[in-house]
Amino acid sequence: MSIRTEIIAVGSELLLGQIVNSNAQFLSLELAELGMNVYYHTVVGDNPTRLEQAVKIAKERSNVIIFTGGLGPTKDDLTKETIAKTLGKKLVFDQEALDSIEQYFVQTKRIMSENNKKQALVLEDSFILKNDYGMAPGMALNVDQTIYMLLPGPPSEMKPMFQNYGREYFEKQFGFQEKIISRVLRYFGIGESQLETDIQDIIDEQLNPTVAPLAADGEVTLRLTAKHQDEHVANQLLDELEQKIQSRVGEFFYGYEQTTLPQELKKLLLAKQKTVSAAESLTGGMFSEQITALDGASQLFKGSLVCYTNEMKEQLLNVSKQTLDKNGAVSEECAKEMADQIRKLSNSDIGISFTGVAGPQPLEDKPVGTVFMGISFSGKETQVYRFHFAGSRNGIRVRTVKYGCHYLVKLLSEIE
Ligand code: ATP
Repeated sequence: MSIRTEIIAVGSELLLGQIVNSNAQFLSLELAELGMNVYYHTVVGDNPTRLEQAVKIAKERSNVIIFTGGLGPTKDDLTKETIAKTLGKKLVFDQEALDSIEQYFVQTKRIMSENNKKQALVLEDSFILKNDYGMAPGMALNVDQTIYMLLPGPPSEMKPMFQNYGREYFEKQFGFQEKIISRVLRYFGIGESQLETDIQDIIDEQLNPTVAPLAADGEVTLRLTAKHQDEHVANQLLDELEQKIQSRVGEFFYGYEQTTLPQELKKLLLAKQKTVSAAESLTGGMFSEQITALDGASQLFKGSLVCYTNEMKEQLLNVSKQTLDKNGAVSEECAKEMADQIRKLSNSDIGISFTGVAGPQPLEDKPVGTVFMGISFSGKETQVYRFHFAGSRNGIRVRTVKYGCHYLVKLLSEIE
């Protein structure tokens, strides 16, 4: 039987452009991995008549229909009741969901409203998909050779529900024998087109595992996906492909799956027992914010100075007046002094500095996007990196911080 899947996202916010339909994107990627064809994405507002029409159309052309949204306490009548009506099914209470909702209200000492209770209503005869991160359960049922799956709207609830329970439901329904295993490799410091060029022959000959590049926020990721009945063999296939890819572009690799550059930096600082401090000009505290957002930051981050004006650079950081007068704040010399001074002032192992022109106006005759970054490391010569970034003010600042983490990761990887 050929699988024809349609995803129906329910929510007026989507039609008004207030949120993007990221649920459909996520589900499409997941379904592609399962080998299920997705032929339609439909978006419909919180309106029972139009939802009913959308379901009727979907029934004609699709044999798997996945809904997201409209299961919560405010709109719970909509998706469930409309589907119940269209399929001629009743809504019944799911005792497990009801118990967990009641439990939640007892624990939080809040009064449960009738609306909350209705979240535990499910379509009769359906298979329940547990909601580990919220209250409304999801459900799936097969009626006349068509599978209906209802998932909650919030991505934080929908994604784990699909990955932990929804996928398995499809695997069982369609008797997929093969295990599908993915691995995400993350790269920084190399553009998408360069990375693709470097591994073009690998991409061209891909069958199993497959390689899918994706670029976002100045980073590139490669998703490798292997299929095999034996999970162990699937992992071996991934290992082999990863090795082949890393032999070409490994120098830009920084981590797996959902990790970030600051997280990798944190791991290395902890492993090498080093501390860092920052002197931030154009980044205005962005670097420090990202490091302190990580738990346990106090073990590796001593602090920072946001010294935006020359006056602050001179008075607080002791950058020499001569450097500022002669070379300007956006200069190699200033970046070097800032990094050295913050390291000494804070008594850290590493001092990092950011100074540059975020725009939109040029500064000191230096074009927008000129950035100097200093890294001062006790016992080593202070390094200064010069960049010319393109893009918006914020884009330049974000990229500067990423490069800061990237070079610190490189430096720490190289030391004992
Ligand atoms: P809740 O219990 O929060 O009411 P729900 O299942 O009723 O959940 P909705 O009310 O439709 O879901 O949506 C709740 C929130 O989930 C939305 O405000 C939005 O932030 C997010 N959301 C809903 N649908 C999507 C979608 N298709 N893509 C991305 N985010 C979505």
